[in-house]
Order: sequence, then C-alpha cells, then structure tokens
Amino acid sequence: MNSTNVNESNVSRAETGKFDKLAASWWDPEGESRPLHDLNPVRLNYVAERVALRGARVLDVGCGGGILSEALAAAGAQVTGIDLAPRVLDVARLHLHESNLQVDYREIAVETLAQESPGAFDAITCMEMLEHVPDPGSVIAACAMLLKPGGRLFLSTLNRTPLAFGAAILGAEYALNLLPRGTHHYAQFIRPAEMAMALRDAGLELEDLSGLAYNPLSRRAWIVGNTQVNYLACAVKPA
Ligand code: SAH
Repeated sequence: MNSTNVNESNVSRAETGKFDKLAASWWDPEGESRPLHDLNPVRLNYVAERVALRGARVLDVGCGGGILSEALAAAGAQVTGIDLAPRVLDVARLHLHESNLQVDYREIAVETLAQESPGAFDAITCMEMLEHVPDPGSVIAACAMLLKPGGRLFLSTLNRTPLAFGAAILGAEYALNLLPRGTHHYAQFIRPAEMAMALRDAGLELEDLSGLAYNPLSRRAWIVGNTQVNYLACAVKPA
C-alpha cells in the first residue's frame, strides 16, 4: 500500500480500456451498463441513509459515466467524479447537458488527488471499481486521506466466493450476456475480511457491511444480510 504512488502506478490500462469501449452506451438503461442503472437507487439510498447529502462535498472514485455521481448531485451534494478512462469521462461530461446537473469530472488518480486535497470530502463513494484496480488497498488509503474527520467512505465490490463466480461471471457474462465477457476476473474479487483489514490499515472504522442482491430478470436490487456475491461497506474516519 503506497499512497505516494501516483498517476499510472495503480491502474490497469487493460481494465480502463474495457470501460472506454462501453462509453457510448453507458447511459442506455438497456445497454451493457444496465446492472449499474438497476443497482443505483439502492446504493444511493444506502449512502443517503448515512450522510446528509444536501450541501455535502462528495467524491465519486471510478465514477464511470456518472450514474451515481449524478444521483448524488441530484440529491443536493457538491460532487467531484474521478476516473482514468477518458472516453467514459467524455460521456459523463456530455450527459450533464441532458440532466442539467453539476458534477466536476476529472481525469486524475485518487492517489494524486489525495496529495492535492487531503481532508476535503464529507463522503466518498467508490462503487464497483476496486475489483478492477491492481492495488485496492492503495485506493482505500487515498480515500482515507481525502476524507474529513468524521467523513464516510462507501465501497461496493464482489466477494471472492464460488457463488459470486457463478453469478457475476458465469451468470452475468456467459448465461445472460448481461455484461461483456471478460468484465470481471475472479482473482480480483475481494473478501469482506480483506476489505475490513484494508479499511483498518487506512485508519478507518468499519460501520456496516451489507449484501446487495440483484435479480437481473426482474431488474430489482435490494439490501440483504448475505454478503456472498455483491456487497456494500460503509466506514468512518474517526473525528
Ligand atoms: N462507479 C461507477 C462505475 C463502475 S465501472 C458506477 O458504479 O456506476 C468501473 C469504473 O472504474 C470504470 O469507469 C473504470 O474506468 C474505473 N476505473 C478502473 N480502474 C481505475 C483506476 N485505477 N482509477 C480510477 N478509475 C478506475
């Protein structure tokens, strides 16, 4: 874990390249980002239950085309969205013309931003991103630096279980063709205990771990106790 490593040190260009290819259809709720659209109300609600969003300074790390960033802005937050896939960021910026919302999108590594603006944010979201990064611990450490004391970090990722392999890779990528094949690599999925350890190493206190269930057929998503597949975590920076 090295938060002084900046720029290209903690990004897989194979990964951001895959997302750049999806840029054009990012805002199509029936397109390849459909699961993100379907999950969004539940994860927004998870954040809104734990942070007073109106007027809060919120950072969305690995924001993609801005599905969550825009929802946070619509809830009254002052949002910065960062990502390292330039085409995806172009789409995010263009979409603001349709939504009439304001989000400050920047192509910058979270580790670099942490050097630039430590302690700047009331809340940070980092959803469905850690499993695409070479060193997730470095992202978490940078987020910890970026939070104000008392601020909260929200993460979501896939657990490394046979069930998650079945649902996210065999199910979503192969059986249902919901996601492009090769979207996920099983070895990069993160167990909740590993997540908890990285949060503790970064000086954050884990407040909640919740499972995120998703039925791609009904397109319904909801919070569950079971964290075997997709899960959300909330951690606080001690005041
Ligand atoms: N968080 C968004 C998008 C998830 S897709 C949402 O849940 O709606 C994963 C995103 O992480 C992609 O946009 C990809 O470009 C981005 N990403 C991957 N590696 C990254 C890195 N090292 N730094 C910043 N963003 C990264």
